[in-house]
Amino acid sequence: MNFDWIANYQWQIALIYMITVVVLLRGSNWLAFKIPAIAKMRDWNRSEDTPKRANPKYPPIMKANGRVGAVISLLLIIVVAPAVLTLQSVAWWRYLTDIVLVLLVYDFIYYFTHRFVFHGNLLRKVHGLHHQARDISYIDALYVHPLETLIGLMIYVVSITAVSLAMGGLHVVSACFAFVIWSQINTINHTKFNIDRFPFKTVDYLTTKHSIHHKNMNMGNYSSITPLFDWMFGTLD
Ligand SMILES: [Zn+2]
Ligand SMILES: [Zn+2]
Repeated sequence: MNFDWIANYQWQIALIYMITVVVLLRGSNWLAFKIPAIAKMRDWNRSEDTPKRANPKYPPIMKANGRVGAVISLLLIIVVAPAVLTLQSVAWWRYLTDIVLVLLVYDFIYYFTHRFVFHGNLLRKVHGLHHQARDISYIDALYVHPLETLIGLMIYVVSITAVSLAMGGLHVVSACFAFVIWSQINTINHTKFNIDRFPFKTVDYLTTKHSIHHKNMNMGNYSSITPLFDWMFGTLD
């Protein structure tokens, strides 16, 4: 793997990437909501979101954020993925380790960006918009400044590029799984979720962890995928 963009470019990857992400996102939502306990949580979030949706400050931010997200995702699919990812199949365990690696690299970079850039002087005001939500529910995952969304997606691009270079190639399916897990966790951690039994306990933990982070801008819990880096650097709240 090298940086020769034209030599690496495979247009088929863009197509496979787009289809796989859509199927995984829709499929995982469809499966999850088949579980009655999860469907109940969805109803709870919908009732929490209704008054927020009527608040005039929500729609313009969600719209701007959605537009920026769509443009960056399109650039990622057309420009980055076909040059950085590969279609060459690898051993089954490599798919698993590569997905975990991408998520760990992402969470590591995001931890420091969140702690020192979003909560530091540089972009505190930009990130403060997302922190206006003190009592979070589903809709608040979308109440994000477009610049923050751009930075989040760029960290994902850096993570897949780094893992691809380090491992001598990253399969498109691994990148898609990492993207969908990342996207789902970043949405789910804003939801109201209260199921204190196996196997939902982990989700319950993640939602509680992020809701504590939203209480005010001086709380810890900066990482978004796992509690690992908050635990390592002593910012678990
Ligand atoms: Zn924050
Ligand atoms: Zn948040």
